[in-house]
Amino acid sequence: MVCREYGKQLPKNYTTNICLDCSRENVRKIFKENPDIKQAFKESIEEMKKPENMKKMVDDTARFMQTVQSLQKR
Ligand SMILES: [Zn+2]
Repeated sequence: MVCREYGKQLPKNYTTNICLDCSRENVRKIFKENPDIKQAFKESIEEMKKPENMKKMVDDTARFMQTVQSLQKR
């Protein structure tokens, strides 16, 4: 599988069709266009820093990426 943005080869265990660099860049763009999402994300990062929430982090990150992806489809 390759990155859908630039055709960069992705690691075999990748579950998305976009590389880390491009997804970071997309998130940065979305934050720029949607400051409210940035604020919400910041708050969830703060929550994740609490040790009792570390286990939850994977779920939250997955949920966040789904939100990002649904925004990109608009
Ligand atoms: Zn890429």
